[in-house]
Amino acid sequence: MNTTTLSRWRNLGIIAHIDAGKTTLTERLLYASGAIHRVGEVHDGAATTDFSEIERKRGITIGAAAVRIDWTPPGEAPHRLSLIDTPGHIDFAIEVERSLRVLDGAVAVFSAVDGVQPQSETVWRQAQRHGVPRIAFVNKMDRAGADFDRTLAQLREKLDANPWPLGIPLGSEAAFDGWVDLVDRSVLRWTDDGDTVRHPWGDDEATRYADARARLIEAVAGHDESLADAWLAERAIDDAMLRAAIRRGTLAGLGVPVLAGSAIRNKGIVTLLDAIVHYLPSPLDRPATSAVRDGIETRLPADPAGPLAALVFKIAHHAHGPVTYVRVYSGTLRVGATVWCSRQDRARRIGRLAIVQAARTHDVDEAVAGEIVAILGWKDAVSGETLSADDMRLVLDSIQAQPAVLSWR
Ligand code: GDP
Repeated sequence: MNTTTLSRWRNLGIIAHIDAGKTTLTERLLYASGAIHRVGEVHDGAATTDFSEIERKRGITIGAAAVRIDWTPPGEAPHRLSLIDTPGHIDFAIEVERSLRVLDGAVAVFSAVDGVQPQSETVWRQAQRHGVPRIAFVNKMDRAGADFDRTLAQLREKLDANPWPLGIPLGSEAAFDGWVDLVDRSVLRWTDDGDTVRHPWGDDEATRYADARARLIEAVAGHDESLADAWLAERAIDDAMLRAAIRRGTLAGLGVPVLAGSAIRNKGIVTLLDAIVHYLPSPLDRPATSAVRDGIETRLPADPAGPLAALVFKIAHHAHGPVTYVRVYSGTLRVGATVWCSRQDRARRIGRLAIVQAARTHDVDEAVAGEIVAILGWKDAVSGETLSADDMRLVLDSIQAQPAVLSWR
């Protein structure tokens, strides 16, 4: 394990108002990445991330589960994405807080028809408070009344965000079928069976879209010195330079890259996967975690060789038994090791560790800093507790729901 590998990990959540399309989008991301081979019908409760019986019945995702997928953007190294399912329902405020605590970045899904709705506003602000960098996906572009520009305006007005549209949607409503990529200067067309046809801009397109690209560059350069220098010196801004500046700005919370698509019609899904890799942080990009030992605060960077510190953020009940979801912040969690549990104040042995990939789990021997993993077989685990070495006894900073901010009409 080395830092090059860690830099290719993304732990992310998908946050949205109920009905914006989070479940559909999650499933399409799994499908596009090859993690599942068939897309189920979301409305009958068969979606892959809806694990528990109660979730199936209620048709909403009430708990956060983590699903791992692999993704390789064109011409790049393979990346590993953990999708952490963030509950959208307000009754589960503490779970929302907990899942925001363990993810490094988020995709905020908005409906192009309904725009910024109250719950997305709430979760957006929670994510902001946790310093979680975000990209926005404007979904349902195929629906009557879809309006990309209006959604951008609402991002500005309702969320005080600084949206950076990374492209221009082509075709509207039922005829929505493409995207002008302003970063890499290509045009994408989506066929009805979900394929993407992409071609680089010709002279004609370079002329037609030059102004839109210039506006994006200007917006980003307003927050990025090296891009501003190149822009002011009238140097050509290549794709890599622009992408790097957008990444810096996104990680610093200065702007929000915005994409558009239609989850149900498989449009914009691959573009979103690429954007997750390009603009959301790896565990190494995040600030060191603070932990307390004997009343003294220490900072723990994401180092597999550091002292073990892991947080239990979700207990799920699968058909095959309880699953304890954990994020490792520092050190390495190993099968066979005995760890101290901060809340239960006792030592426990790690019997089995597993990675959840869509509907399957597979056993692993260890999980390193930055990784999300499931402990299998722990009967009475407690959410929110820290796991550390018995002779270290660390406590990661506690998570508190903030009711004043969480209430909405
Ligand atoms: P969630 O509550 O955010 O998880 O939303 P769902 O994924 O369950 O989607 C809510 C409804 O919107 C379902 O009926 C979906 O079929 C539908 N839906 C999701 N994405 C799209 C889309 O891109 N276009 C259209 N027209 N409908 C969509």
